[in-house]
Amino acid sequence: GFKMGIVGLPNVGKSTLFNALTRTAAAQAANFPFCTIEPNVGEVAVPDARLDTLAGIANSKSVIPTRMTFVDIAGLVKGASKGEGLGNQFLANIRETDAIAHVLRCFEDGDVTHVDGRVDPVADAETIETELMLADLESIEKRLQNIIRKVRGGDKDAVQQQRLLETAKEALENGQPARTVEVDDDDVKAWKMLQLLTTKPVLYVCNVGEAEASEGNQHSAAVAAMAAAQGNSHVIISAQIEEEISQLDDDEAVMFLEEMGLAEAGLDRLIKAGYELLHLETYFTCGPKEARAWTIKEGTLAPQAAGVIHGDFEKGFIRAETIAYDDYVSLGGEQAAKEAGKMRAEGKGYVVKDGDVLHFLHSN
Ligand code: GDP
Repeated sequence: GFKMGIVGLPNVGKSTLFNALTRTAAAQAANFPFCTIEPNVGEVAVPDARLDTLAGIANSKSVIPTRMTFVDIAGLVKGASKGEGLGNQFLANIRETDAIAHVLRCFEDGDVTHVDGRVDPVADAETIETELMLADLESIEKRLQNIIRKVRGGDKDAVQQQRLLETAKEALENGQPARTVEVDDDDVKAWKMLQLLTTKPVLYVCNVGEAEASEGNQHSAAVAAMAAAQGNSHVIISAQIEEEISQLDDDEAVMFLEEMGLAEAGLDRLIKAGYELLHLETYFTCGPKEARAWTIKEGTLAPQAAGVIHGDFEKGFIRAETIAYDDYVSLGGEQAAKEAGKMRAEGKGYVVKDGDVLHFLHSN
């Protein structure tokens, strides 16, 4: 599955948000095996109304949403790259994530101490980014020493790695995160393998006061401008409201959101933003036993999409019987879609589309 790391300076609302997310998810997901893997790791059901529609049509016994993992990565402080705070452990945790949700304090509250004594989310973002850039530089220097030895020994992959590491180093030394480097198609794979922290896409989470959750405030506006200039995205959330919502049942939560002038819970917006950031899509499998959603990257071919369900499905892939979501719903199910000629047999070269209802035929 895909993993978002929640980072931010101390006291910005990370734990409040993380606890709210996982508690809401646990409550919503009574019918699927929810798990909090570790105290700071939670799997969250991805909300998708289409799944319930499909399950209704197919009369499915169980409904299983797809999931996204959130990791609360505490311990980032100024000096983390030098091993202060939780230092290296913290950096190792970030390395394993697909994207970073960077929580920024955008609320004013004299009772909650700010580590630098003032509310300035843009400066906070720079503080964290600087630590990540320093950590990248340090790991690049270490790796270059080994790689130069391998290059001398005639290792071709090492030549490519050395070139990429030096490009990244140059960007970082100029104060630019590694994500600003443009990489040729031939280098994309090796570039990803470098696992640099500042190549991860960033979603800024503006934690605003309760009264500002729908419109934001001047701090979140400053973050929005920064995010746009960097090509990153942002969402406006009140961690406190999310915490309150997480203690309500579904009907109460809907009423509460209306009262606050909010169209959607922050959890839903955060996950949607994460989906966009990571270029993720959802396809469905659907029958009387179970309706289920699965996550893939945009552009995934049918065999690899099958592989998300089981490795054997990918290895023994024959074809994917495919019905577009709209056809499935407007015609009223698999049988009707088939009779109307809307079930396609797609082969190995088929690029799965968001919303496809798939049935894989395989030789395993
Ligand atoms: P972390 O260190 O980033 O994990 O921050 P916490 O989630 O522990 O929050 C630090 C403090 O800020 C706690 O006392 C929270 O109750 C408070 N807090 C979090 N979000 C908000 C908010 O949106 N508004 C206000 N006023 N306080 C908040």
